[in-house]
Amino acid sequence: MANEKIPYKVYLEENEMPKAWYNLRADMKKKPAPFLNPGTHEPMKAEELAPVFCDELIKQELDNDTAYFEIPDEIKEFYKMYRPSPLVRAYCLEKKLGTPAKIYYKFEGNNTSGSHKLNSAIAQAYYAKKQGLKGVTTETGAGQWGTALSMACAYLGLDCKVFMVKVSYEQKPFRREVMRTYGASVTPSPSETTEIGKKILAEHPGTNGSLGCAISEAVEVAVSTPGYRYVLGSVLNQVLLHQSVIGLEAKAAFDKIGVKPDMIIGCAGGGSNLGGLIAPFMGEKLRGENDYEFIAVEPASCPSFTRGVYAYDFADTGMVCPLAKMYTLGSDFIPSPNHAGGLRYHGMSPILSELYDQGLMKATTATQTEVFEAAETFARCEGILPAPESSHAIKVAIDEALKCKETGEEKTILFGLTGTGYFDLYAYQNFNDGKMDDYIPTDEELAKYREKLPKID
Ligand SMILES: *Cc1c(COP(=O)(O)O)cnc(C)c1O
Repeated sequence: MANEKIPYKVYLEENEMPKAWYNLRADMKKKPAPFLNPGTHEPMKAEELAPVFCDELIKQELDNDTAYFEIPDEIKEFYKMYRPSPLVRAYCLEKKLGTPAKIYYKFEGNNTSGSHKLNSAIAQAYYAKKQGLKGVTTETGAGQWGTALSMACAYLGLDCKVFMVKVSYEQKPFRREVMRTYGASVTPSPSETTEIGKKILAEHPGTNGSLGCAISEAVEVAVSTPGYRYVLGSVLNQVLLHQSVIGLEAKAAFDKIGVKPDMIIGCAGGGSNLGGLIAPFMGEKLRGENDYEFIAVEPASCPSFTRGVYAYDFADTGMVCPLAKMYTLGSDFIPSPNHAGGLRYHGMSPILSELYDQGLMKATTATQTEVFEAAETFARCEGILPAPESSHAIKVAIDEALKCKETGEEKTILFGLTGTGYFDLYAYQNFNDGKMDDYIPTDEELAKYREKLPKID
């Protein structure tokens, strides 16, 4: 049987590793909508973005036509320390489920940051360094992005200022210490160190903070400090470009064993891991060369794709960032405080939003108790303690494999296992103690946030 010949893990040799990132936009007939200036509502020009972002990254951000961007040697060298990431055949999980489906996952948790975010962190830090900058600022929610960026900055000798959502800062002190170990300064957000932070604190004393608010603070510091720029860990086109390394490696590994996945599943927060994982496969679909089914999985408590609207919205609470057209719940939306599964951003990558709008991709939701049940099943079979974010994809991969059990179909399923859950043990504790509950926002609640969308004609 062909099955038996496929090893547990498929690795790539050095000469089989991707040499260029793939820009999915080049193959999209209808391109994602451009960023708009929040004041004039005109498309943002490179020079308007220059005070906020690094020059080379702006070029990548605005380029809808160049299909491949060569990966600079220094980044390839860095990637070698933790890449290729393994493509794993989940034999144990298949057996446990009794499914004829063949399940594979691409595991991105094999580095200290514990997630795929390092793939873009090193790229963004590299271009900042090349531009001669002193440092970068950013926000972090759960902490994976801040950790990844501090690792990249430490490697390249850049200063790194992280605004960490206050509730995470308090609940995840060890994440904070990892970042500090790599030399980053970490400030709980909202803080008194920025004008926007002071304003938010005055309006909402005792607030737990949010990603949108931390973004505003990080941008303010970047534009007001000479030699600094702002970097973002998801949502942006450039981040999906860098994350294409995940999909390119997965595709090369599948080609090596002569297997084609039928279905590709990923969790979606801002959309970067999913956008990266599906990139080369979606490229084939767009060019009419092959067909695949793509599924985005989001938390039922933060359902941007499935219950949001496709509209221009603010990327941050302080409304300092460009307007982005995306599936959004409204920039004031914050998931309920009992939500422990990450993927909390109110919006979604403009690239994925456009693909979803064109019907090229599906989306579904999972509640957090279902997600942790799937995490537990997976951990017990496959050994890896998954991040709650990743477990959204696990949940739907399991569901799809069980459907195959009903129908007898031998589908090949690929999902993105974006990271590990060692810093999420409070959430696991709640789950193990039976104290986790599910919160699903009502239509009325969502409508309230939607009212504040900017009016664009
Ligand atoms: C940040 C993160 C995500 C979600 O971000 P995307 O940009 O949607 O990929 C998923 N999994 C892990 C482990 C993360 O750290």
